[in-house]
Amino acid sequence: MMQNTNLNSTHDLNRQSWVGSANDHEHFPIQNLPFAVFKRKESKETFRVGVAIGDEIVDLVKLERCKLFNTSIQKSLKVCAQNSLNKFMSMGVDAWSKLRLVLSDGLTKGSPLEKTISSCLIPQSAAEYKLPAQIGDYTDFYTSIHHATNIGKLFRPDNPLLPNYQWLPIGYHGRSSSIDVSGQTFARPTGQTKAPDAAEPSFGPAKRLDYELEVGIFVGKGNEIGERISIDDTDNHIFGLCLLNDWSARDIQAWEYQPLGPFLSKNFATTISPWIVTTEALAPYRTPWHREEGHPQPVSYLESDKNRAQGGFDVELEVLIETQQMRDNNQAPQRLSRSNFKHSYWTVAQMLAHHSVGGCNMQAGDLLGSGTQSGPDISEAGALIELTSGGKNPITLNNGEVRTFLEDGDTIIMKGWCEAVDNQRPRIGFGEVVGTLLSARI
Ligand code: MN
Repeated sequence: MMQNTNLNSTHDLNRQSWVGSANDHEHFPIQNLPFAVFKRKESKETFRVGVAIGDEIVDLVKLERCKLFNTSIQKSLKVCAQNSLNKFMSMGVDAWSKLRLVLSDGLTKGSPLEKTISSCLIPQSAAEYKLPAQIGDYTDFYTSIHHATNIGKLFRPDNPLLPNYQWLPIGYHGRSSSIDVSGQTFARPTGQTKAPDAAEPSFGPAKRLDYELEVGIFVGKGNEIGERISIDDTDNHIFGLCLLNDWSARDIQAWEYQPLGPFLSKNFATTISPWIVTTEALAPYRTPWHREEGHPQPVSYLESDKNRAQGGFDVELEVLIETQQMRDNNQAPQRLSRSNFKHSYWTVAQMLAHHSVGGCNMQAGDLLGSGTQSGPDISEAGALIELTSGGKNPITLNNGEVRTFLEDGDTIIMKGWCEAVDNQRPRIGFGEVVGTLLSARI
């Protein structure tokens, strides 16, 4: 296996924290250190940046006031007083990496800073979150060939995979205003739908409401308009990853999507997890990427040895449903499917290289969606439209309820994590993203 040159002491498997809950934490051990924007629940505090460690949050504003570090670190901490990560994101990979190192060292068992830093901890159970960044632009890709083929068969039985799919990462410009953090609730959207055999469309609440299991990708440092981000430079521009649920109204989508792509079927709500796991934290979980023989090989701006060596991310993904009836009867949420981001046909590096190749300027806080991450097996599908074959094969839940698409009151929970491998890497996680569908407004 190729030596991973991106690893440093912050990834050390043996590193333990003086924050007891961090050691063997399923999401936030000391090797993770993800970022969020938070405040104390129901307080009048202002939102600010924090870093997760075990069950706690390091309040970076409080930490800045302790004046523990050199000028460049203090400068990074100072911008964390803002209610978004945009400014820190725009500072670039050196600033991100230096702050991660001092936080990791300071949180390590035996650190002389233990007493001071412990005064900056707030329990996650006492916190509420907002969007981690002010998202200027949002672009949703379509990078799982399994999803594209499954859904293509439903929308176009004779022609599931369009010819451009294997040549470029397909995407559309989405809507950032309706993106919210985990906990989002939204009304069932209303719009035009048309049954295949109907002469005219009808207007009303969507009947085929779905989720999409996706990874969100936050741009850190941007590029100037007219410049492009080369595929080998993308790691310097990707701040980190989160979980993303791209809620979708399939009946609205089927009628509106040609010829310019999804519009109202996607723009009513998108939910992301509060914690962004940084690209650096994900270094031990990079995987090789390859394009199977018989498929077109990438054109030059989408091709590189580095991308082939480590373009993928080995992130386990899971979707669960909690219906109103489950809540009423105190039943645990039920898993609908499990998948992995490493199956993606296009990598994060290819997405960003493609997005900017014509000179489009990316900005700090821009969000890219990976597209629904369905695995090779149908049980790994990341959306109900695939799991139920377009609604033809309903799912019977353990409590006897039946679903083709989502019902009012359904909550969808998505989880993500990178699994431990003995003596090579610990487990780190993304936490979860939760969202609930409410009834349509009349
Ligand atoms: Mn999507």
